Amino acid sequence: MALHASSSLADSDLHTASMDELQIDRNAPVSEQALQVLKTVYGYDCFRGKQAAVITSLLEKKCTLAVMPTGMGKSICFQIPAMIFGGLTLVVSPLVALMEDQVMALKLAGIRADSINSSRSREENVATWRKVASGDLRLLYIAPERLMTERMLAALAKLDVNLIAIDEAHCISRWGPSFRPDYEGLSRLRDFFPHAPIAALTATADETTREDIADQLFPRDSHDKRLGDVIVSGFDRPNIRLSVTQRNDWKKQLLDFVGARKEQSGIVYCLSRRKTEEVTRFLQDSGLQAFAYHAGLDKTVRAAAQARFMRESGVVMVATIAFGMGIDKPDVRYVFHTNLPSNMEAYAQEIGRAGRDGAPSEAMMLYGLDDIRMRRSFIDNEGGDDDHRAREHKRLDALLAFCEAPQCRRQALLSYFGEEIKACNNCDICLDPPRLSDGTVAAHKLIEVIEATGQSFGAVQMIDILRGLVHEKIKRFGHEKLTCHSSGKDISKEDWRAIVRQMVATGFLKLDIANHGALKLTAKALSLKMGEIRFAYRPDVMGPSELSRPRRAKSNLPQLDAGDQDLFEALRQCRTDLARQHKVPAYVIFSDKTLHDMALQKPTTRPDFLLIHGVGSSKQRKFADTFIDVIENWMG
Ligand code: ADP
Ligand code: ZN
Repeated sequence: MALHASSSLADSDLHTASMDELQIDRNAPVSEQALQVLKTVYGYDCFRGKQAAVITSLLEKKCTLAVMPTGMGKSICFQIPAMIFGGLTLVVSPLVALMEDQVMALKLAGIRADSINSSRSREENVATWRKVASGDLRLLYIAPERLMTERMLAALAKLDVNLIAIDEAHCISRWGPSFRPDYEGLSRLRDFFPHAPIAALTATADETTREDIADQLFPRDSHDKRLGDVIVSGFDRPNIRLSVTQRNDWKKQLLDFVGARKEQSGIVYCLSRRKTEEVTRFLQDSGLQAFAYHAGLDKTVRAAAQARFMRESGVVMVATIAFGMGIDKPDVRYVFHTNLPSNMEAYAQEIGRAGRDGAPSEAMMLYGLDDIRMRRSFIDNEGGDDDHRAREHKRLDALLAFCEAPQCRRQALLSYFGEEIKACNNCDICLDPPRLSDGTVAAHKLIEVIEATGQSFGAVQMIDILRGLVHEKIKRFGHEKLTCHSSGKDISKEDWRAIVRQMVATGFLKLDIANHGALKLTAKALSLKMGEIRFAYRPDVMGPSELSRPRRAKSNLPQLDAGDQDLFEALRQCRTDLARQHKVPAYVIFSDKTLHDMALQKPTTRPDFLLIHGVGSSKQRKFADTFIDVIENWMG
């Protein structure tokens, strides 16, 4: 799905952005210059997270490894130094589609960037090379295998290469799961360009991988001490609202959620290919633009779906986790999990695909008892040694605790990754704190039934006994004759299910996978039975109706009133038209946040237009008049 910038943007569209034209004050300290570039080129007022630290380190010509969560804005970290250094910056990137996206965005921002890659014709690549050789290009995006040929390296070594950026730097590490042999050669880059600092960027690297990346890419001093900086940014994504709710009627829950967000782009994750297709058909039948995406689909079908998703808004990708790697769409507004993800790491990674533009976004997860059962059996059948399985069960426990968390979800999530934060006020629990009930009496009743039936039945049978049902399976085992039969009549079936789940999640009960998910008592249950501890639980606070109401996510954006919302829609339409015309994805023109700001500020002059968030001088020149027309029309 290469999006060809070269074919859609004529060079005459472009503006040679020399530093003078960008009106950067060359006498200012570099940190000031960096801010000026941020403002003039990208239209942003301040750096985010560790961006400034990374840029400063690079401007000091130090090799720098930046580990930042997806969406924090890694690209700016090397693009700004590239502009300040002048000369040529090489950007090594493994994914052609991402390369083309970034080149396109840079061109629109008035920066001379281009790429040499296998999806382009020989003629195009030769033309790009001419621009490189004549010093006409600021950033050259190139695939590792193309870069690391003797000829290319020799030719580049003669040029003014001032910076080398390596995207997806974790691919260099043999310890990591995404090792790419063609990245291994990159450790030789230092020898060819000893004066160009290396910027290594990645979103996923644990301690070991980080060390490995730095060891391979960074130089050493005469005492063999490694030089360079490793800068790790926090993993919080405060713009993503976190919600988790039990699955009771998944079709309704899903449709309520997605249907209320028709105009938005989203990803719905499913566990299997079959389920993916079922859900896609279901959403399509409900009038939504949904596409299935999984590894079993024909490559061209997949590419077409992905292209639609990238270019349009209002498209839902229904996908297995195969979808997402290398998806660089910044305006994905929600990620909906129809089932429990495999663990906290996977969850964090998957929801991280929402809201990369920093605008309010949502992560909704549905889960149920059968998810827990299935995940446990996945782990048990996974192979590997007992230690490994025990670990995986523990990691799953952590995820369950997150699902049943009685306190702020973001706290629970981040504490898992070793970060401490205050309650976030942007998760379902903070916004709608659950009432904690004392469930000790109910727990006693449940424990009694489990004991009386020999710890060999699942939750359904236990609840039916408690509720006093008399059906075939109850009679077959004589369960209606138990003294505890009917003892929990006063509690609804739903509440019982919640109690069971939370007793499982909080370690009072265990699901015996080998035995069809029979409920077993743990030591903790016995302590409870002895009256040593109590059981507090969260009665279910989020019914399905909560799902259908898109609540305003936390943001520093004031909410639009009805009139402004109208204007916002008109601006979106304008953006769609421009995107079609330029054959680029809509967000490359402007982000939602930019349109939002526009709808609020209603600029009608070019200077005012430049004040809008996300408007740099190049985009002002290209688009101000068109959008001002829309605003003036709307004002009547
Ligand atoms: P990453 O590569 O880390 O996933 P990107 O470089 O694609 O992230 O940036 C994600 C989005 O955030 C882009 O739309 C980018 O323009 C925007 N962005 C980056 N830095 C800033 C900033 N300082 N202020 C506002 N938006 C920013
Ligand atoms: Zn919270």
